[in-house]
This record gives sequence, structure tokens and C-alpha cells, in this order.
Amino acid sequence: MNKTFAYAAMSAKAPLSPYVFERRNPREHDVAIEIKYSGICHSDIHQVREEWGKGAFPMVPGHEIAGVVTKVGAKVTRFKIGDHVGVGCFVDSCRTCEYCHEGLEQYCSVGMNGTYNSTEADGVTVTQGGYSTQIVVDENYVLRIPKNLPLDKAAPLLCAGITTYSPLAHWGAGPDKKVAVIGLGGLGHMAVKIAHAMGAHLTVLSQSMKKAEDAKRLGANEFYATSDKATFKKLKASFDLILNSVSAELDWNQYLGLLKIDGTMVLLGLPDKNVSLSAFSLVMGRRRLAGSLIGGIKETQEMLDFCAKHNIVSDIELISADKINEAFDRVLKSDVRYRFVIDCKTFSAP
Ligand SMILES: [Zn+2]
Ligand SMILES: [Zn+2]
Repeated sequence: MNKTFAYAAMSAKAPLSPYVFERRNPREHDVAIEIKYSGICHSDIHQVREEWGKGAFPMVPGHEIAGVVTKVGAKVTRFKIGDHVGVGCFVDSCRTCEYCHEGLEQYCSVGMNGTYNSTEADGVTVTQGGYSTQIVVDENYVLRIPKNLPLDKAAPLLCAGITTYSPLAHWGAGPDKKVAVIGLGGLGHMAVKIAHAMGAHLTVLSQSMKKAEDAKRLGANEFYATSDKATFKKLKASFDLILNSVSAELDWNQYLGLLKIDGTMVLLGLPDKNVSLSAFSLVMGRRRLAGSLIGGIKETQEMLDFCAKHNIVSDIELISADKINEAFDRVLKSDVRYRFVIDCKTFSAP
């Protein structure tokens, strides 16, 4: 067993505090990873606060993991010691259902095994995430991070990156497409960079004009404030694809009106409450409302290779472990440009 230093929530809504636990010794197909950096995703906060249902405590969050391979099991073929690797939102799945076979493990019909607040394939052992010094994962659920990407700025690609890449790729964002993203936060800023690299014409729809300069720097072609009513008139029927990255409740009908005929709005954020939708918003323009959840292993690797080719990483604020609780508060206030990443060498014995 391997002593692992971490930060954990000891109970629901408790602030995170130093925690020590054991990781398993690598089995035949396992890769042991020294975690160098771990991103902070808004869903970490939802889960430690039990906003999405009952949690398993102590809970070590973190599913934007970047590190270096330190040990491999006897039958591992895809990785060797020293490789730069990542782990995203899940560490296993049933491997036999039609979706797992298609490389869509995130939609596994049995349910994927989450990187934390979930169980291993045995259905018993609780998984613990990336706010820690090491992790042991089956090689089939480990991603290769190309060496030209710095590990700290690459960590957020494992959730924020793939969450935006997958719908952009699936709905064909490219040179002849007009794409909009609602919200310029952790997800939104990745959507801008990736859509720009895909060659799409990209518009950011943000509450105010505050982030307009940033958006242009990140690669956006246009920027509009949604607090200005004229925006909805001006942009009526403009877009082929809209990614909604915010989890706040918005009037979806208003945004669906910004789609061209046959356009699609994809939900990435998860509002707490049900949102009301008028059938007219869809019917009048053969428009579609869709959702998208992270991406499978194959597509996540494709995203990392795409980002390496285009030199895309996240804009981050690097913090030490003792700043995690403060960072959570700032994430809730959208006071980060654009992702907090924890330097995992600052986890130590309590
Ligand atoms: Zn996430
Ligand atoms: Zn499956």
C-alpha cells in the first residue's frame, strides 16, 4: 500500500482539511501516477457539499489530474515510467455495454466509475480523487499528455477541455460555422480557445462587457453583453451552434431564438432547478436543444493531441493546498481567470 497525502472533506459541507490514506499497489494493468497538478472544477464543490445527492466521506475531490508515471503493472503496454499522463472524470466503466464499446464510456449503461465520490469496478472500494499526491488507475482509463503541454496548465483539459471539445467536435464546429458560447468561465474560456483553433467564427455571450478584452485575447471574434436587450434582437437567428456553459438559470427560449434554422444549443452546465421551455422555441426553426457530458477516453486523447498541436492550455491560477477552501469561495463568485490548479507537492502530512 502507498501512503498518500491529500485534502478531504470529512463530512458534507465541511471545509477541506489535510488527510492521509492508502492507494493500492499497482495490479497487472495498473499505472501508478505521481500527481503534479490538480484542477479545481465547480463540480468538486457541488459534490463535497452534497448538492448532487449523497456523498461518500471522507471525500478527496479532483478529476483534472496531471502527473508522471512512477510504476506500471506487469501487463501494462501503453505507458512507461516517466510518461506525462492525465486522469479525468472516471477511472473505469463496465467495458462491455454498447457505449463502452463505442468509446463513449461517459454514457456507460451500467454507469461509469467516477474518479472520486464513487466506487471502483468492484462496486465496494470508494474512489478518491486528485487533490492528493498519487493515484493508481487501470491503463485503459489513463490519458497521455503530450510533452509540449505544461502539466499545470494542461490539468484542466481533463474536464473543462473535453467538456467543450466533445460538443464542438460532435456538432461540427469549423470554418463555415458560427458558434456562440454562453459564459466565459472555466468551461467558456476553453470553448473559445478550442473553437477558434477549429476555425469557427466564435461569439461570446456574457452578462456584462467586463471580460470583452479577455475574450478577444483568447480568440473570440465577437463579444456581446446579454444584459443589453438589443443583443437578442441583433443576433436573432445567427448561430449554427450555441454552447451553454453556465449553470445559472437562464431563459433558454431567448437563447434558442439566436439559433439559425436547424441550429443546436448544447447544455453543459447543470442548473439546480427545472427550466421552463416553450415548444415554439424549437418548432419554429426546427431547432434542437441537446446536452453533452465530458467525453470518452478515445475522444479525450484526441482532444489532448489537438490541444498539443495548437498549443492550447488553460489560463490558470496556481495555488497551494492550504488555499483550496479560499479557492472554492472564489469559484462560487466566478472570481478566477480561469481555473484554479493545485500544486500537489504542497500536500503533506497533517
Ligand atoms: Zn469537472
Ligand atoms: Zn459500459
